[in-house]
Amino acid sequence: SLGKRGLADLSAAALQIARTKSPKKKLPKDQLDFGRTFIDHMLKINWNSTDGWQAPQIEAHGPLVLDPSAAVFHYAFECFEGLKAYRAVDGSLRLFRPDKNMARLNKSSTRIALPSFNGQELIKLIGELVKLDQDWIPEGQGYSLYLRPNMIGTEAALGVHKPSDAMLYVIASPVGPYYKTGFKAVRLEATDNVVRAWPGGVGDKKLGANYAPCIVPQAEAEKRGFQQNLWIFGPEKHITEVGTMNAFFVVKDKSTGKNELITAPLDGTILEGVTRDSILALARERLSSDEWIVSERYASILDIAEAAKEGRLVEAFGAGTAAIVSPIKYIEYHGQGIDIPLQEGKEAGKLTETILKWITDIQYGIEEHPWSVRI
Ligand code: PMP
Repeated sequence: SLGKRGLADLSAAALQIARTKSPKKKLPKDQLDFGRTFIDHMLKINWNSTDGWQAPQIEAHGPLVLDPSAAVFHYAFECFEGLKAYRAVDGSLRLFRPDKNMARLNKSSTRIALPSFNGQELIKLIGELVKLDQDWIPEGQGYSLYLRPNMIGTEAALGVHKPSDAMLYVIASPVGPYYKTGFKAVRLEATDNVVRAWPGGVGDKKLGANYAPCIVPQAEAEKRGFQQNLWIFGPEKHITEVGTMNAFFVVKDKSTGKNELITAPLDGTILEGVTRDSILALARERLSSDEWIVSERYASILDIAEAAKEGRLVEAFGAGTAAIVSPIKYIEYHGQGIDIPLQEGKEAGKLTETILKWITDIQYGIEEHPWSVRI
């Protein structure tokens, strides 16, 4: 179909499949190494500014051949997504809210002068890839297939301009349960000497360029015995995100005595997490408003420290596709320690545990829900 300006839009009907001649041996499921083991096939779609999206190809997972002058290698014309395919309890294959990832990838790609695409068509194509390699999804709850859509500028030219050529590809890696032996709460270093994102910047886009600069601060935090950075921003010392997850805090509200579930608002500096959105929606629907307040607002690390001192800090967790929820047990801010309560004998707070169940029940079809999309 011809879209804007007569260019071809992405079309799943045009898919061509060239099956691999040398299928790989699958690792036993207890030996899966996230992001290092890949399924047999990949999806690849080329785009150029004269014709638009070309026929999608499913072919053997393997090296890309690009000119060293390709735009992606010089000016970071690269954006990506992360979502998972699940084998539900009824045996069907599902994606979790893939429309959200398609919308976010389109926002990311168009911000860096790469083309947009029809998200529903890409969902169909991803479905074909997953169906073809479904034997790669191990049996059992907690197992899934991590899907990594990626769009890059491929024009072979050094000029700093909108790339005339691009490639959208999807690779996939089978993954095991994030918490093999139950939750493991993390210790965070609140970082305010380096910022992850800033107003007017691109922190709400999933650009590779947002990630590389976070590795050095992360390694420094690790050296000091912390698993992740808690990203702090601005003179008010606002909590923005934790590592590569959205951050949630539960604080007992002083005036009402209710529990307030707090996460940062989508102001352009926060990655618009699919998990974050799902947690907010489920919390608003399922937590009693007699006992709970659900807030998209900034919390300052100073307020969190004060709440902890006053015994009003209830729990804290990160939220993202990989772990769904990741409980936090300790934060250090300028040498000051903040202890976060966990349930007696457990490595997570009560809401953290509840949310994990809510979301996995939907992902594995234990609870039928429109967010779990059959492919
Ligand atoms: N923040 C950042 C910076 C991330 O990279 C991610 C992972 N995509 C998230 C938050 C969580 O997003 P999602 O729930 O969509 O995985």
